[in-house]
Amino acid sequence: MKKYKNKINKIRSFALSLIFIGFIIMYGAIFFRENQILVIIFMSIGLLCILGSTVVYGWIGLLSTRAVQVVCPGCGKHTKVIGRVDMCMYCNEPLTLDPTLEGKEFDQSYNNKSQSE
Ligand SMILES: [Zn+2]
Repeated sequence: MKKYKNKINKIRSFALSLIFIGFIIMYGAIFFRENQILVIIFMSIGLLCILGSTVVYGWIGLLSTRAVQVVCPGCGKHTKVIGRVDMCMYCNEPLTLDPTLEGKEFDQSYNNKSQSE
């Protein structure tokens, strides 16, 4: 069985890893001190990754304003749902906004179906 994660959490961890990748690439530039062109290339790629993650963070902000806030029945905490089905941010409880899907096995493809309709 595939493991699902809350969408906002998933994007957030992607943005976080992008920052780390950016710093690792910029750190890698130290090893090419002798070659200035390589240093510049590494620095710009690293900077692009960090800029990219800033953009992703802004996107998360936009997404979470559009997300529906619900109280998770599993842990009782407030969590945000994007799309028809999503997971709780805290306990990974599958949540749905569509009553017809209630009780059904969680399937990420429900979101795709709703988009194509
Ligand atoms: Zn929960």
